[in-house]
Amino acid sequence: MTKSVILVTKYLVVSKLYNNFAANFKQFTEMATKKHKLSTAEVIRNAEQIFHRLRWKYEIVVCPYCGSMHIRDYGNYHYKCNSCKNRFTDKTKTLMHGSKLSISTWLQAIYELSVDNMISDGTLAIKLGISINSAWLLHKKIQFSLPQDRYILEGIVAQDEMYVGGSLSNYHYSRKWKLLRDGHFVSSDETRYSKAALFSLNSSLKQPVFGMNDGKQIVLYALPNRLRKEYLYQLNKKHVAKGSITVSDESALYNEWEANTGCEIHMNNHHDNQYVTDDGYTSNRIENTFSWYKRGFGARITHCKYHQLYLNEFVFRYNNRELSTEDMFNVIVSNTIGKHVTYKQIREYNQLAGFKIRKKKHVGDLTIDDIKHMLQSGNVERIEQNGRVYTYRDMLKGLF
Ligand SMILES: [Zn+2]
Repeated sequence: MTKSVILVTKYLVVSKLYNNFAANFKQFTEMATKKHKLSTAEVIRNAEQIFHRLRWKYEIVVCPYCGSMHIRDYGNYHYKCNSCKNRFTDKTKTLMHGSKLSISTWLQAIYELSVDNMISDGTLAIKLGISINSAWLLHKKIQFSLPQDRYILEGIVAQDEMYVGGSLSNYHYSRKWKLLRDGHFVSSDETRYSKAALFSLNSSLKQPVFGMNDGKQIVLYALPNRLRKEYLYQLNKKHVAKGSITVSDESALYNEWEANTGCEIHMNNHHDNQYVTDDGYTSNRIENTFSWYKRGFGARITHCKYHQLYLNEFVFRYNNRELSTEDMFNVIVSNTIGKHVTYKQIREYNQLAGFKIRKKKHVGDLTIDDIKHMLQSGNVERIEQNGRVYTYRDMLKGLF
């Protein structure tokens, strides 16, 4: 009798562990650190087992196309649906959909990302033993699966904008003069350039980022070079709860803030070294966030088309900073399920992800300013209007 009780309790404990993410994680980390000196085939098999348990709750396989449970199992994690006749594997309709990399490579990549803050693609490639191009796409896909849409800030929200990227004055002499010459900012005898030209070129080389911090959570968005107040209003409506108080610096971007967002605002005059208002409001916590970012990713990437994806990863790690490594791993893995991302989607994902740009229907109506703004935003590479082609390169050269 006692023996059977022990057996039942043992079975319960084992079955609980079997479905426990933590147990899977432990097994995986041991595998990843090669504690048991497993062969490559064994590592791959273990990772496939772990992902199988993570993907299908209680190991019940459901068709990802129609939701039917009438499945024919071919073994080796290949199935066919008896209802819609589609064939699928464990990878189908996840981030790994269509990827030639093995599941073990993917899981190890997620493990590295959950351990190391702001790992680079190069390091990832060396650790996983894959090419840097594969590591780039894998990293971008994981970053893509961690959007910022769900974060809602409330209470006292500090907000500010930062500019990521090096100053033109620190560029090498030859590179600086090449950029100035390309933009036709240099005098005809090529000995002088105007300070105003240097300033405008300098700002066009930097990446503006808008951030908000309420003491618990943060939100960071990359914006087009020509900052517009409307983007900030949109972000406020999307991420800040009603009745919150915003704190900012004295920038002219916030002059009509209350009328447009309905949010109370307190401004610190940083120009006069005021960092706390008389009522006790400060925006210093967002400056702190920026400093964290600039010491990590900000040092590596400057004006990158995929800047928003790096911001996504940083924000995810920051907002989930209280999770342990294994919980972080589990959250990222469960995020991969049900998300099929293609290279095309990542290529089209740009700085304005999540924004609605006013698109004019009649192309003939665009003014030169509108064309310049659209080209600067990175959304369009070339615009055709009235038989003339406008490109970003021509704009930098000052041809229109
Ligand atoms: Zn089906």
